[in-house]
Amino acid sequence: YKEACAEDLHLDLSRGKPNREQLELSMDMFDILNSKSTLDTADGTDCRNYGVLTGIPEAKTLLGDIMNTNPKNVIVGGNSSLTIMYDIITHGMLDGIMGEKPWSQIPDRKFLCVVPGYDRHFNMTEHFGFQLISIPMLEDGPDMDQIREWVEKDPTVKGIWCVPRYSNPTGTVYSREVIEEFANLKPAAQDFRIFWDNAYVVHVLYSSESSQYPDILEIAEKAGNPDIVYEFCSTSKMSFPGGGIAGVAASPANRIDIESFLKYAMICTDKINQIRQARYFSSHNKIRRHMLKEASILRPKFEITEKMLEEGLDGLGIGDWTCPKGGYFISFNTLPGLADRVVELCHNAGVKLTGAGATFPYGKDPENRNIRIAPSFAELTEIKTAMHLLTVAVRIASLESMDEDKAD
Ligand code: PLP
Repeated sequence: YKEACAEDLHLDLSRGKPNREQLELSMDMFDILNSKSTLDTADGTDCRNYGVLTGIPEAKTLLGDIMNTNPKNVIVGGNSSLTIMYDIITHGMLDGIMGEKPWSQIPDRKFLCVVPGYDRHFNMTEHFGFQLISIPMLEDGPDMDQIREWVEKDPTVKGIWCVPRYSNPTGTVYSREVIEEFANLKPAAQDFRIFWDNAYVVHVLYSSESSQYPDILEIAEKAGNPDIVYEFCSTSKMSFPGGGIAGVAASPANRIDIESFLKYAMICTDKINQIRQARYFSSHNKIRRHMLKEASILRPKFEITEKMLEEGLDGLGIGDWTCPKGGYFISFNTLPGLADRVVELCHNAGVKLTGAGATFPYGKDPENRNIRIAPSFAELTEIKTAMHLLTVAVRIASLESMDEDKAD
């Protein structure tokens, strides 16, 4: 550890961003359009002009393809799926969902958060004054018994955050059974909604992973529960973060409800980017091929992370970690009470990790165990060094705590 501290490292495993090599993969998207391009859609809309509030058909087809849902379910938004989530929650707060009482008038409003999970989700609902309730993640999705208990008994529970395929940060994939259970919930509140954020649905790390995931909208409709879910996705991490297109898929009634506020906010989003992205990701096969190229860059980074963890910690009983088949993160657990110390030790030696607690509501991990590792942005050699240091830090922190136990 002292050797590492002397090396003056500046390594960062905190950012779930694509690296430059991944961004290069999409550069030929800029060759899709030029001054000679026809910017009319198949149905004759001129993308250069105002109009088409809910997005052009080609973009609905693309996002429908990603989410494996009928394109007619899709409303195309701007560049960010998070913004669409924010706008829908704002609508719930101000107007009420489908004519229900605005959430701002329900002082003890609650939102369920699958943990460990995505800090930006949790922060968003904390910002809107929801009480955040943690629901533990199990092997094949969240604890559905706990979810049913809350959702079916308490009308102040208005929503739940889910990242169903390759969850952030555990990489968990919700099983078909779990999806069915979600679709069959009988909420106490009419305006309870599942926020099904499928940000990583096509982000496989291995070609053996299927290119499709069950369509929760169809399953919910069959269950007689068509309005229970909003599904989100974007092409941010398929192309350029902040420069992609995003959308929400929802039932006809939910779409009417969303349009009822959207029409006051804008005339349309950027249809030029919509057509560029849609022509680039022009088929299911094209998306798959592109994502496998992304995977060929990301996979070695995940594998070296896992290898270093194995070499440094396997069999010691002082840490466990996930080995995801897709997505952007690995979730690591220290012994209880040690995550912040491990992050501190790494930080002092020049390795930046996401803050301990970030994966839990209010930034507080009750067991102080979980650390999110983001291997995408750093170079392979950097990851190797950083992960070696992390395993050393875990051993130091564990020994320190054993010494304390003895002293007690
Ligand atoms: N949802 C999840 C689960 C994410 O991890 C991220 C980015 O890391 C986003 C949404 C952001 O998506 P967008 O760029 O479409 O706002």
